[in-house]
Amino acid sequence: MTKIAFVGLGNMGGPMAANLVKAGHEVRGFDLSDASVKSAAEAGVTPAGSLAEAVSDAECVITMLPKGQHVIAVWTDLTTLVAEGTLLIDCSTVDVASARQAHELASVMNCMSLDAPVSGGTSGASAGTLTFMVGGSDKAFALGLPLLETMGKKIVHCGSAGAGQAAKICNNMILGISMIGVCEAFGLAEKLGLSHQALFDVASTSSGQCWSLTTYCPVPGPVPASPANNDYRPGFAATLMSKDLTLSQEAAKQSGAATPLGEHAAALYAEFEKAGHGAEDFSAIIRMLREKAGG
Ligand code: NAD
Repeated sequence: MTKIAFVGLGNMGGPMAANLVKAGHEVRGFDLSDASVKSAAEAGVTPAGSLAEAVSDAECVITMLPKGQHVIAVWTDLTTLVAEGTLLIDCSTVDVASARQAHELASVMNCMSLDAPVSGGTSGASAGTLTFMVGGSDKAFALGLPLLETMGKKIVHCGSAGAGQAAKICNNMILGISMIGVCEAFGLAEKLGLSHQALFDVASTSSGQCWSLTTYCPVPGPVPASPANNDYRPGFAATLMSKDLTLSQEAAKQSGAATPLGEHAAALYAEFEKAGHGAEDFSAIIRMLREKAGG
């Protein structure tokens, strides 16, 4: 049993913390949103009224926050709150520079640290089947592995500090591009008089098969658990996809990689977000594409 502080109990963090509780760990949770703390408490997480209360006595602190700025703010506060030797794990998706800065803050505290972003969505978080892509030292990885294994099915040690985030940004660039591709295919099928189910039955067992189609299918019907069946409630919010694509483009620019489709996907998600749809699931971009086609 490990004493864990879990900070950020949203769509992902809530069910991840719940799985740590199920595995027999003592989990204290903190979030700025009372509603998130309340629902985590229903799953057995001990609610904390402040970050300080959550992390006191913790052997491991896990953060699952929206963006790099939130992670840096929380980890900066941790510098005065946690004991030397505490293991710090950030599972949020952030830019590589923020991830490295977080590792530096940890080393100033004499703490071990991992960047460990995830893939698998809210269903993977609930089922404990996430993929973790991890950056950090071998020693920190060995220490964190048993905890990550209670929340995920596949844990990949990608390299040193920041390598997990690098893998995540590449993966999500594929996801953003593939979701737009799947939405475009359904839009074309609609114009051609092909039913959603027929396209799904063919593409899901053909070379067009991908996660955006078979797990987050952007039209209601073929995949009953996809956000499209729930009026596009996230799921994975469009604002987060927009963030990840922006991160991929910043990284592409800095490293000199050619990512023309990633650039186009980033522009489409930025447009979708600007039109006020950031809180919808990222598969809802099919609506914007239909509008571009005139209905
Ligand atoms: P979310 O917005 O549902 O949850 C984030 C939570 O952090 C919120 O409840 C918010 O109140 C809390 N928070 C923000 N600042 C805080 C602070 N200073 N202290 C305490 N709590 C604070 O987001 P999410 O969907 O759970 O995503 C979290 C991270 O995981 C993001 O970086 C996202 O890109 C990544 N991610 C999400 C998914 C997904 O499917 N939702 C999948 C993979 C990765």
